[in-house]
Amino acid sequence: MYPNSLRFMYFHAIALCMQDELPEECIKALDDFLALAPKDHDKVPACYYRKATYYLSKEDNNNFYAFFKKGLEAERDQLPCFLPYQFPMKDMLMKAYIHGGMAEGPSASRQLKNILSDPMRKLMITENRGFLMNICADPTLLVNTVSKPLNSPKPPKWTSLKPIMIKDMDPTIDKVYDGYVLDAKIIDFGMLIKSSATIIQDENGDIQRIAVYKWPSKGNRKKDIAEAIKVFRPNVKVSIISPYMRMSRDGKNIIRVEGPKYIKLDDTFADEKCTFCGKQTKVLACSACNMARYCSKECQKIDWIEFNHKGICKHLKSYSAL
Ligand SMILES: [Zn+2]
Ligand SMILES: [Zn+2]
Repeated sequence: MYPNSLRFMYFHAIALCMQDELPEECIKALDDFLALAPKDHDKVPACYYRKATYYLSKEDNNNFYAFFKKGLEAERDQLPCFLPYQFPMKDMLMKAYIHGGMAEGPSASRQLKNILSDPMRKLMITENRGFLMNICADPTLLVNTVSKPLNSPKPPKWTSLKPIMIKDMDPTIDKVYDGYVLDAKIIDFGMLIKSSATIIQDENGDIQRIAVYKWPSKGNRKKDIAEAIKVFRPNVKVSIISPYMRMSRDGKNIIRVEGPKYIKLDDTFADEKCTFCGKQTKVLACSACNMARYCSKECQKIDWIEFNHKGICKHLKSYSAL
């Protein structure tokens, strides 16, 4: 095939696209071109953007996201002389892509919208961070948040456990769920009060605070605070055996974990997930603290401003170095 006939195919497809009454032919002509064109052909991204434009006009969001993303990917195969890549409607498409779905497509967008529309989650995380800031600023601070336990779990046994979810635990009753295991993931950085405390979320999306007692000391309080921040970090999976639902002094619930023997931590992939939305993807660390990781500018911005990463960032930095 002559290079010119490829170019002809492309302009033929574009001409079809201009005629609103022939959308199927237009898409077919674009696909014909894409099937034959080498990956680095300068019109390949434009074809994907054309398709994205078409699906956007049809309000077919899944196809819009898919083809816009293909366009972005195809730009990477372009020779440097064609960059930055010009496509007349790209700015408009980019806005629709970011606005409607963040840069990750419809499912990530739904996940992020759930996070943003959950006021409880925001409250718990910002409170946790408020605590963390105070404790990091004054490590001698000892806050006793929970009254003496009324109950205690039986010694842990990791066999024949029954699964339990947060919603199955009655928040109005001080009770040990002996013989049960609660699987969840950590969603914020840990801190050290009398116990190591952080926030977890289970598969249903329910969230709860946890307090882990008797974690082995690293020698001094500052190092122990650093240990809590590093060990109980976002996206580490936890399995809690015989979880103990308690009411703390501020009237809120907290799940008490009697000691390291009652909890299993799994940090596989934890550092490949977004601190804010939990998505596993290519993440970039916050350049200031090198502790928080983000999948997108969007997540980083919301976490910084609305969830006060701004307040804890410098503390995470200084303590993670200990
Ligand atoms: Zn994210
Ligand atoms: Zn940071």
